[in-house]
Amino acid sequence: MRLNLSKINVKSFSKDLIAWYDINKRSLPWRNTNDPYKIWLSEIILQQTKIAQGLPYYINFVNEYPDVIKLAQASEQEVLKLWEGLGYYSRARNLHKAAKIVVNEFKGVFPSNYSELIKLPGIGDYTASAVSSFSVNAINPVVDGNVYRFLSRLIGIKTAINTNKSHKEFRSIALKLISKNNPSDFNQAIMEYGALVCKPSSPNCANCFLKKKCYAFLKSEVTLFPVKNIKKKIRERFFNFIVIKSCNHQTILEKRTGKDIWKNLYQFPLIETNSLANKETIVDQLKEIKYLDNSKKKLVLFENKSFCHKLSHQKIHYSFWLINVKKINKDQIDILDLNLYPFPKPISNFLLKFNW
Ligand code: SF4
Repeated sequence: MRLNLSKINVKSFSKDLIAWYDINKRSLPWRNTNDPYKIWLSEIILQQTKIAQGLPYYINFVNEYPDVIKLAQASEQEVLKLWEGLGYYSRARNLHKAAKIVVNEFKGVFPSNYSELIKLPGIGDYTASAVSSFSVNAINPVVDGNVYRFLSRLIGIKTAINTNKSHKEFRSIALKLISKNNPSDFNQAIMEYGALVCKPSSPNCANCFLKKKCYAFLKSEVTLFPVKNIKKKIRERFFNFIVIKSCNHQTILEKRTGKDIWKNLYQFPLIETNSLANKETIVDQLKEIKYLDNSKKKLVLFENKSFCHKLSHQKIHYSFWLINVKKINKDQIDILDLNLYPFPKPISNFLLKFNW
């Protein structure tokens, strides 16, 4: 039997949580503004991203695009370039699409109203709740990973948090608990408490003001929460990038299209294989690379090894195969212009190391 919500005095719970937050909160730039545009930027950047990693991106975006009109005026390629290295690139594409909609349909005034926010691309219940509560103090509870963990332990909720029905259940509990006078600080506080006290591993139960009520702590079951369904199998893929270099310092890039990972980012021509490929396999498949003629080519494996890049549901094994040619006749780009293109992390790491 999980904890009955009536055992929690809602008023003192939110009062104590906000009091804890006032003393312990981390100072972060998006906490000093009620501009819905900047709050939205921070929320999109911080999805599935640690604060330390997202912070420089937030600063760069605010500097480069201080308002939504500037963001809408940029090209998608420029936005993806600024996002480079942060991963989950659909966030950047949706950021740009949403900025254009705000300019065209809201006269450039970024909405702070939940029902308008939720219609924008890339904005779901969490982001619409966060932006509306942090900007205009709307009573919309936020449910992120920290809130799932904290509430599941406190109340003993055994619904798997990676299922569709969990969100509705946790949101309705958070709605009962949220401070009606200060929903903005309450939302910040509940997430910060999950991040700093009720942490994923080694939560600080000894100093938690809720330990006498907490279901998981009283049952010594803290490590069993939150409950998650077993994840889907990770798909392994094998990418062979063909780096063509001409005597006059040119190369070839392709834009990734379709529904695959890294959409609209750039890469060297790719041969995808079913397993790690040796030189013979790549030589055999070079005919797939339309930029090369049929003459014999010397192929060199960069650093004599393959590399690995992990995504949430995929593990990418990748290699760079180097080919020197006299001249490239079609679609060539100057090596000096490579810094204008947004790349997935494996390619940008290669460019940092490779001596053209
Ligand atoms: Fe989380 Fe421990 Fe506090 Fe329970 S007692 S809410 S598990 S920190």
